[in-house]
Amino acid sequence: MTRIAIIGAGYAGMAAAVTLSAAGHTVSVFESSRVLGGRARKVEFGGAHIDNGQHILIGAYRDTLQLMQQVGINPDQALLRLPLTLHYPEFKLHAPKLPTPLHLALALLTAHGLNWSEKWAAIRFMQWLKQQRFTLPADSTVTALLDAHAQPQQLRRYLWEPLCISALNTPADQASAQVFANVLRDSLAAAREASDLLIPRINLSALFPEAAANFVQTHGGALHMRTAISQIQHYNQGFVLEADAEGDTDDNTAAEQRYSHVIAAVGPHHLPRLLTALPSLAPVCAQVEALHWEPIVTCYLRYSAGTRLPQPMLGLCNGYVHWVFDRGQLDGNDGLFAAVISARGAHSDLTREALANAVHLELKALLPALPEPLDSQVITEKRATFACTPNLSRPTSRTPLPGLLLAGDYVASDYPATIESAVRSGIAAAQAVING
Ligand SMILES: Cc1cc2nc3c(=O)[nH]c(=O)nc-3n(C[C@H](O)[C@H](O)[C@H](O)COP(=O)(O)OP(=O)(O)OC[C@H]3O[C@@H](n4cnc5c(N)ncnc54)[C@H](O)[C@@H]3O)c2cc1C
Repeated sequence: MTRIAIIGAGYAGMAAAVTLSAAGHTVSVFESSRVLGGRARKVEFGGAHIDNGQHILIGAYRDTLQLMQQVGINPDQALLRLPLTLHYPEFKLHAPKLPTPLHLALALLTAHGLNWSEKWAAIRFMQWLKQQRFTLPADSTVTALLDAHAQPQQLRRYLWEPLCISALNTPADQASAQVFANVLRDSLAAAREASDLLIPRINLSALFPEAAANFVQTHGGALHMRTAISQIQHYNQGFVLEADAEGDTDDNTAAEQRYSHVIAAVGPHHLPRLLTALPSLAPVCAQVEALHWEPIVTCYLRYSAGTRLPQPMLGLCNGYVHWVFDRGQLDGNDGLFAAVISARGAHSDLTREALANAVHLELKALLPALPEPLDSQVITEKRATFACTPNLSRPTSRTPLPGLLLAGDYVASDYPATIESAVRSGIAAAQAVING
């Protein structure tokens, strides 16, 4: 009999749970936290819900959008869809509503802040990538790729480097050129809708994991919250989970039952501990232990009601901040701005107060009428994503132990660590169970 346990209720685990439930399987999901969503979850701030980190999705997130619909979330209401727009004070790029590749060509040709030779350099570079079918002869860093194609400084500063750090959360001089090319293939060079920016209008737990949990439960599945699994044990007839003693007795008893399949959907830094009793998985542990981490900081600044940005999302590149979002224009959190700083950098040395102040001053340089903030909250996710460097070795979903599968944004794929790679890995792990 198929009995399936899923460890971890982030986007990967819940994608696996929904896919299996929809296929008629009953699943048991174990989650150590009291909140669903993992690295994409809601947190409280001043009585309102914000996110542990401001996220952005793109139109190319095909599987995430499909699963959201499957669990009853309407992406057109839950996400603000904007045509690709990069809006800096000194640079503006806007993709018009035209079929591919015209939308990209016209976006580049009409961009403000680039001269003609810079525009042609960008178009030539994209043409070359297309001729290579976005498969590079060898992986290198994004900077090496841009150097090899003589990409001018302005283009790097306002287009390639911001795209790289947002998508790969890794600075261009360390980031994988091949993964960057994959991202360009599926966004800028794909159908126009694929490059659309999708900004959440509801918190990240509500965007998918909570509706997914509801879907799983109405299909007979069980969710065991605040149940941390410490180890997976393997016996001839299947798997037994060991739960940390602090958990609820009923939830711990559920863990100790026998499962024919286990999908480990925890973050990669939590995986080695889970696998300690499984010697055949030592090579998988070695692979995830070799990953390096990049942080993401989201600095929330609350201003008086009515304070607005000129756009829901603006790019910055004269200080620490990469993007700032006006939550008032997104989820109705009037006067609340979320400033995002991707990857490591000099900002890591500042205290929260000093960083919040520096972020406010950066915004004020852009918007001189900005009042003093009333309140601030700095959330640093130290292990936001793995560093997406060239030729990275990532574990596959299937492990040497039949019945034990991995799901998570770090599992081998074309993509960097994103919501979409997490969801796709969850679906793939579920399909492996369904197909036997
Ligand atoms: C600040 C920030 C900003 C980001 N911005 C973007 C963005 O703009 N766009 C984008 O696409 N992606 C973004 N990402 C990346 C994205 O959030 C992740 O790729 C994705 O959420 C990973 O999902 P996951 O399910 O693979 O892992 P996780 O979200 O880490 O889920 C793992 C789950 O397992 C649980 N768990 C761990 N150990 C145990 C255990 N022993 N027992 C039971 N449960 C356990 C955890 O509590 C967690 O809920 C961002 C990430 C961060 C942190």
